[in-house]
Amino acid sequence: MAIQETIIELQGLSKRYGLGDAEYYALRDFDLTVKRGEFIMIMGPSGCGKTTLLNIIGLIDKPTSGQYTLDDRDVSRISSRRQAKFRARQIGFIFQNFNLIPNLSIIENVALPLIYSGFHKYRRLLMASNILEHFHLQEREYYMPWQLSGGQQQRVAIARSLVANPSLILADEPTGNLDSRASHIVMEELRDIHSLGNTIIMVTHNPALTTYATRVINMLDGQIDTDIKTVADRDLSKPGDPEKITVRILPRKSAPAPETTPKPTPKPKPTPKPVPPPKSEPKPEPAKKPKKSPTKKPAAKPKKTSTKRRTK
Ligand code: ADP
Ligand code: MG
Repeated sequence: MAIQETIIELQGLSKRYGLGDAEYYALRDFDLTVKRGEFIMIMGPSGCGKTTLLNIIGLIDKPTSGQYTLDDRDVSRISSRRQAKFRARQIGFIFQNFNLIPNLSIIENVALPLIYSGFHKYRRLLMASNILEHFHLQEREYYMPWQLSGGQQQRVAIARSLVANPSLILADEPTGNLDSRASHIVMEELRDIHSLGNTIIMVTHNPALTTYATRVINMLDGQIDTDIKTVADRDLSKPGDPEKITVRILPRKSAPAPETTPKPTPKPKPTPKPVPPPKSEPKPEPAKKPKKSPTKKPAAKPKKTSTKRRTK
């Protein structure tokens, strides 16, 4: 099973801004094939089109021309509404400035991408809590974003990017606003997530970080300048490995032998509840953390992986 599935195929993709004399191509006739399990770092001078590329791949923006196939579906020209839906289900986004919603608690921020999941709010918060536990941020779940350090906020953003079980994680300079210690922690998280079978595309200015990548692409003027794979496709982590899929820390009923292609979330099954679910929304009550939130653990704990976690 050496063949890695293609997750992304870009063909002749262009993005033009302006008209006439002011016409400017942020991306020009761009081709790229991404296999499942790659960890791609994109580098290049400011203004060369990295963010434009990531935004198109992330269905935040649309190409002017060319074709974009994601998970075997042509998504180049779908409506913005379908884009948003598709994005929520398939793509986890991590930004340089974290982009947490300031007036929502940590747990509510993390639960946001589940809005299209069809799950009840209680279930969504439970899933968010579960993934925060994985990042050792559970005791901060009722904090507000401003009460966390930059590094912690970015780890919350990483948790948020994973909660909906996306097939792809995109990160635009995720360590750009972090000191070197926090950067290191964030990169270790991304490394773990990748080693568990996820596909990551990350933009960075920092050449030192490319050691984490399986492939380094240098861009220049909206095109690929160099493209170097440091890990052969056949050696990429295999998403079919049941041990690897468990990053997807969703408290799902144990689906036997996880599919390689995570499909849009199934309709929720009735959630077993140890205690009646809280009537009220979680209160954004910063400094205090309910000893054990009543939302604890109906579902089986996600299988532990070998991944070691820091306490901080
Ligand atoms: P990078 O992320 O590599 O720094 P960007 O993708 O942000 O580069 O931008 C690529 C080029 O496209 C830049 O010259 C930028 O000025 C231009 N650009 C980006 N967004 C817009 C926009 N909304 N309108 C006009 N020009 C834009
Ligand atoms: Mg940019």
